[in-house]
Formats: sequence, C-alpha cells, structure tokens
Amino acid sequence: MMRSLIFWVSSKKAVTSTIARNGMRSGFARRFVAGETLEEALAASAELGRASRRVSLNYLGENVSSPEEARTVRDNYIEMLRGLDCRSIDGNISIKLTQLGLDFDRTLCRDLTMEIAATAQTLCRDIEVDMEASAYIDATLDIFEAVRKQHQNVGLAVQAYLYRTEKDIERLAPLRPKLRLVKGAYREPASIAWQKKSEVDANYRRLVDLLFDGRFYPAIATHDPAMQEHALTRLRERGVAASAYEFQMIYGIRRDLQESIRQAGHALRIYVPFGSDWCPYFMRRLSERPANCIFVLRSLIAEAFRPTRKA
Ligand SMILES: Cc1cc2nc3c(=O)[nH]c(=O)nc-3n(C[C@H](O)[C@H](O)[C@H](O)COP(=O)(O)OP(=O)(O)OC[C@H]3O[C@@H](n4cnc5c(N)ncnc54)[C@H](O)[C@@H]3O)c2cc1C
Repeated sequence: MMRSLIFWVSSKKAVTSTIARNGMRSGFARRFVAGETLEEALAASAELGRASRRVSLNYLGENVSSPEEARTVRDNYIEMLRGLDCRSIDGNISIKLTQLGLDFDRTLCRDLTMEIAATAQTLCRDIEVDMEASAYIDATLDIFEAVRKQHQNVGLAVQAYLYRTEKDIERLAPLRPKLRLVKGAYREPASIAWQKKSEVDANYRRLVDLLFDGRFYPAIATHDPAMQEHALTRLRERGVAASAYEFQMIYGIRRDLQESIRQAGHALRIYVPFGSDWCPYFMRRLSERPANCIFVLRSLIAEAFRPTRKA
C-alpha cells in the first residue's frame, strides 16, 4: 500500500518539483544519486574504486523521441567510457535502449548500441544493457543478440519476476554472456509476472542455479541477503572461480551488505546513477523501501524551517 502511495505521490508535479529543487542542494538525494554531472559521478566512482568496488555508471534520463536525441545520448555514453578510462577507474557503463531510440527506430538503436560497444572494446571496457519494462523485452533481446555476436564485451540484465525469463536465459546461453540477475523494477501484470515477493524470490533462486551452470558470467544484483546467501552457497558447492562471477548493488543501498560482500573477498560492482533527471529514479528507490522516506521528510522539514540567513 505504501508503495502505491509513493507511486501516486510521485505523479504529483508539486511534490516532485519540490524534491527536484531541494534534493541535490540540501544533499538528501546524494544518498542514492552520485550527482548531476559526469564529473561528480566520476569523483564518486573514484572513491568507490579506492574502497575496491567496481562501478557501473548509469546516466539517468527519459526515453528519447528523435534520432538527434538518441545520438546525443550515444555521445554521452561514449564520454562516460572515456571519463572512466582517463581516470583509470575500474568500471563499465550501463545503458538503456529507450535512450537510444528503441521506441521509434530499432535499427538506429541497434547501430548506436553497436557503436558504443565498439568504442568500449577499443578501451578494453564493457557495457551492460539494462532491462526495461516488458513491452521492450523482445526488441532488447534481439538487439542484445545482434551486438553480442559482434562484441564480447556486452552484458544484459534479466528479471526474475517474469515467467518468461528462464526461457530467455536459455535462448541466450549459446552466446555465453554476462547476465545481471535482478528481481525487476517495473509494475508488471499477473498475466506475465509473479506478484508475491515469495514467488519472485523462489524464481530468483532457480535462476541463480541456472546461471551458475557454467554457461554464463553471472552478476548477482540484489540487496536481499537471502538471495545473496543462496548465490554464495551455490558458488561454493560448484567451486566457481572468483573471476567467474560478481555481485552488484546500487549506490547508497545496504552499504553494510556491500561491505560484508567485499570483506568476504567477492567482486562487487556498484551501480552509480547520475544526471540532472534524477527525480523519477530517486522516487523509485523510495518506493522500494518506505523507511527511506523518513530521511527525505526530515531533510525537507529541516530545509523549510531553517532560519533565513541575514545578509
Ligand atoms: C546493480 C543493479 C542493477 C539493476 N538493474 C535493473 C535493471 O536493469 N532492470 C530492472 O528492472 N531492475 C534493475 N534493478 C532493480 C531491481 O530489479 C530491484 O528493483 C531492486 O534491486 C530491489 O530488489 P532487491 O533484489 O534488492 O530485493 P527486495 O526484495 O526489493 O529488497 C530486499 C532488501 O533489500 C533492501 N533494499 C531494497 N531496496 C532498497 C532501497 N531502495 N533502500 C534501502 N534498502 C533497500 C531492503 O533491506 C530489502 O529488505 C537493478 C538492481 C541492482 C542492484
């Protein structure tokens, strides 16, 4: 119920514009968003690197609606790769195909993705394709397959809440790809997705077992200690080499768990979101854990009642 309430609140312009106005200035959004500019994201990434975390830079933005906008995003992604490279940061980039024209021109989207992968390859870096809402899955899989056939340095996210995902993973197996297993972040209907946490978790465990069968490079992307524990059990049982998998978590979330995964010697990649269009992403993080709202409210109230400084 709380989740639905936050979704509802996030559709109210007055609320989101207050958050957007105050979030970066008063600092509460920085808990989950590395900054508005690439420079800020690179500085946060360098700090994570010093703490032995890999990063995946994630440029926050809306779907684009023209080829020019899609090409601009392609340029931004390439700049992100070069930024990581110039600063010798251990990291890659995550891309969203709807930012590269998936809504209106699939050929353009595929070509731009191909260009980004090729540039990353010349820099000896990799890219990961985020999985978006279910309407985009078939097209995303087709583009991913086409690009992965040309460039080995491309990975893809897959969502455990969907009934179809096991089949999709089997379809991709011949490519021996890197697959990032997530629970899934969108609201999908019961006709295509499990609705209960217990069902999603059960499928997450099944898919972990599948991903550790030797045909994939699994990235276990979750903050759920039970899912992490399941993956740890499987990789111990199967004697998986430390270089053959990684854990992934999101910037600012469960930093205690991030630390314990690293302390135990497992590779950990932090998904680092940044960009001026950070508000919808921020609201999604709040909806995942209503307790997060408390510190936002506290910051907003503190801001509202702060005495105005005299000149
Ligand atoms: C690296 C990474 C990449 C992702 N990429 C994608 C993608 O491409 N496509 C996609 O659909 N989804 C993606 N997601 C989001 C994912 O699908 C889930 O929505 C999100 O991770 C929450 O699920 P969970 O596995 O953490 O488990 P949940 O069952 O939601 O949460 C388990 C526990 O994690 C903690 N937790 C979870 N969220 C928060 C939060 N916001 N604040 C504080 N604590 C929290 C809580 O302790 C909670 O009890 C990604 C997630 C990660 C970690």
